[in-house]
Amino acid sequence: MIKYKLICNNCELNFDSWFASSNEYDKLKRKNFLICNNCDSQNVEKTLMAPKLISVKNKSNKNQDLAKYHKIKNIIKNYQTFIKKNFKYVGENFAYEARSIHYNDKPKSKGIYGNATKEDLKELKEEGIETQVVPWIKDSDN
Ligand SMILES: [Zn+2]
Repeated sequence: MIKYKLICNNCELNFDSWFASSNEYDKLKRKNFLICNNCDSQNVEKTLMAPKLISVKNKSNKNQDLAKYHKIKNIIKNYQTFIKKNFKYVGENFAYEARSIHYNDKPKSKGIYGNATKEDLKELKEEGIETQVVPWIKDSDN
């Protein structure tokens, strides 16, 4: 199936019409079977397809961006799943928990993850506590 934008040269109506193929359009046109929806004139022909080509191109670019976005999002999601499985969530207490592990020499069977401010991270670094910042997507942000 192929969609053509048709224009009536009599009343200047624009309308879309579906054809099995471009040959079918030519055949109907030759037999004067193409009739305007508005004024029943047979003076109907297809218009240039250029605007449609432009919109198709834009759409494919958008899809590429979307695919890229989903790919990155999946990588982050997988990373999050790994962290959730192997690390203990400490929420806003991250800096406190990180220090207590560091200074109390707690057994490091499980790492921790949570929220920290930039200042927290700077201070921890100055105290020689290694942290890793990861991009994070909230679960609700699907
Ligand atoms: Zn017409």
